[in-house]
Amino acid sequence: MKVLVPVKRVLDYNVKPRVKADGSGVDLANVKMSMNPFDEIAVEEAIRLKEKGVATEIVAVSIGEAKAQETLRTALAMGADRAILVQTDEKAEPLAIAKILAKIAGEEQPGLIILGKQAIDDDNNQTGQMLAGLLGWGQGTFASKVEVSGETVKVTREVDGGLETDSFKLPAIVTTDLRLNEPRYASLPNIMKAKSKPLGVKSPADYGVDVTPRLTTLKVVEPPKRTAGVKVADVDELVAKLKAMGVAK
Ligand code: AMP
Repeated sequence: MKVLVPVKRVLDYNVKPRVKADGSGVDLANVKMSMNPFDEIAVEEAIRLKEKGVATEIVAVSIGEAKAQETLRTALAMGADRAILVQTDEKAEPLAIAKILAKIAGEEQPGLIILGKQAIDDDNNQTGQMLAGLLGWGQGTFASKVEVSGETVKVTREVDGGLETDSFKLPAIVTTDLRLNEPRYASLPNIMKAKSKPLGVKSPADYGVDVTPRLTTLKVVEPPKRTAGVKVADVDELVAKLKAMGVAK
């Protein structure tokens, strides 16, 4: 079974985002970019399925600017076999990404597509669901456990009340939650080996998809600065203050 893993290049999660002076977006000039953390978990899960003998080939896909090749090389260094970059300088939105991925799924015929539950830059949490809709496949979102047996996948999902376990037929879509696994670091020899693994470059037009954004960002602002706290002498003073604020009775 082939596993497709879409990976997005995003602002590294350790970097504090800076808003551009004109408020048009987050400043990405000269900042560290990395693979979306949930996508690292997706790559790791695919590798584990391959190590168990369930998956036979792992194909990583990224849609974005030429530098997304670095993200794909990271996926290859972790253990993916092959990569596809769909190159565009346009900031493609989830529906356009899902349409491209649906076309790639048509060509590659994977048994499973494992995506992150959300990309930490725009926090959309849409692509996996839209892709499942376009393909008409079952979807197990927010997965904390994935078990494939025969033609079926069983996904344990993190829901508000606890854990929900669903079972559905392959081919299917899975989106990863934080507790699914701990992604491995790529070793130096594997980073070297990844340089010679196949990486094909395509364009959205090759898949007949228009990636022109449909949303217009009106304004991006920094969150308000936290105001300094107040020290209280004892619990009585704390309770009195909370009562005065109407927080306690
Ligand atoms: P989102 O719906 O934007 O929060 O993204 C959810 C997941 O879709 C991500 O974790 C990725 O697995 C995948 N994805 C989103 N955008 C891209 C992209 N440009 N290239 C590859 N995969 C993407």
